[in-house]
Amino acid sequence: MDKRLHSLPCGYISMTPQGIILDVNRTFLEMGNYTQDNLISHHIESIMSVANKLLFHSCFYPFIQLNGYVDEIYLNLKGSNGTDIPVLFNGKYYEETDVVDCIFVHMGRRIDYEQEIRKAKILVEEAYREKNVALVKMEELHLELEHKQIELLKLNNKLEILSITDGLTGLKNRRYFIEKLDEYLVQLKQTNCLFSLLILDIDHFKSVNDTHGHLIGDEVLIQLAKLLADFFPKDYTIARYGGEEFVVILPLRNEEESLKEAELLRSTIQFAKWEIMKITVSIGVATSNPMDTTSSIMAHADKALYSSKESGRNKVTHATFQII
Ligand code: GH3
Ligand code: MG
Ligand code: MG
Repeated sequence: MDKRLHSLPCGYISMTPQGIILDVNRTFLEMGNYTQDNLISHHIESIMSVANKLLFHSCFYPFIQLNGYVDEIYLNLKGSNGTDIPVLFNGKYYEETDVVDCIFVHMGRRIDYEQEIRKAKILVEEAYREKNVALVKMEELHLELEHKQIELLKLNNKLEILSITDGLTGLKNRRYFIEKLDEYLVQLKQTNCLFSLLILDIDHFKSVNDTHGHLIGDEVLIQLAKLLADFFPKDYTIARYGGEEFVVILPLRNEEESLKEAELLRSTIQFAKWEIMKITVSIGVATSNPMDTTSSIMAHADKALYSSKESGRNKVTHATFQII
C-alpha cells in the first residue's frame, strides 16, 4: 500500500463487494487496536455487533450493487479489546478491480458533542419545567394577593362604617353628625342653602331604667331610633348624639317648616305604639344663619330644648321663636 495511504487522517479498507477485507491502512488498525492478521482475508462484519451487521446488510450491499457507492453510514465497530468505535463510513466500488474502497472517520468527538447537547437539552427542559412551576406558583400567589386585597378593602369598609355608626341603635354616631354639620355650614356659606337642626331628648328616661332595668331602656332607645329612621326622609342626617339624646339635620328647612316637622315628630312619638312603655320627648330646633358655627347652632338648639323641658316636657321649641 502507498505510504501516504497508511497515514491518511482516516481509516481505509479495501474489500471485495462481499465484504472480505483485502487491505487496511495503519490509521484503521490504530483506531481499533487491530493487527493486519486480525483483518486481512476476514469479513468486515467480524468487527461489527449484531445490530450493526443488520444495518450493514440493509444499507451497504444493496447500495453498492445499485449505485456503486455508499455515503455517510454511521456504524459502531468493535475494537480488538471489545470497545465501541463510532465511525462514519463511505465506500466506493471499482468495477475494473472488483474492489470496494472504504474510509472510516472516527466519530468520538461528535458523539461527545451530541451527548453534551443532549445533556444541555435536558437541563433546558428542566429549567423550562421549573420556570413553568414558578409561573403557576406566582399566578397562585397573585390570586391570593388579590383575594387578600379585596378582603382588606371589605374590612376597611366595615371599619369605616363602624367608626361612624352608633353601636346600640345602628344610627349614625356623634362623630359623623359633627362632620356633617360642618359640611352643611360650609355649604351654607358657599351657596346660601339653609338647614335646620333638631335636638331630641327622651323625657324622664332615667325612670325607664329605674323601673324596668337598663336592658329595657336600651330596647326603648332602639325602637325610638327605628321610628326616627322611618319618620324622616333618607337625605336627613339622623344620629344618636349620646345617652338618650338624638340629633337630626333637616336640609333646606326653614324655621316654620322645621318647627312643623318637629311638632309632627313629637306627637308621632307620643302616640306611637310602644312595645314596653310609652315615652315622650322634648325637642329643641334651630335654623342656620350665615354667621353660625357648629357650636353656635348647637347651643341655639340646646337652649330651645332646655326651654321645652322647662315648660313641662313633651314640647317643641324653635330657637328663633323662643320667648326669653
Ligand atoms: P329629662 O326629662 O330631664 O331628660 O330626664 P332624664 O331622666 O331623661 O334625664 P337624665 O339626664 O337625668 O337621665 C338620663 C338617663 O339616660 C340616665 C342614663 O342612665 C340613661 N342612659 C344614657 N345612656 C343610656 C343607654 O345607652 N342605655 C340606657 N338604658 N340608658 C341610658
Ligand atoms: Mg339627656
Ligand atoms: Mg332625658
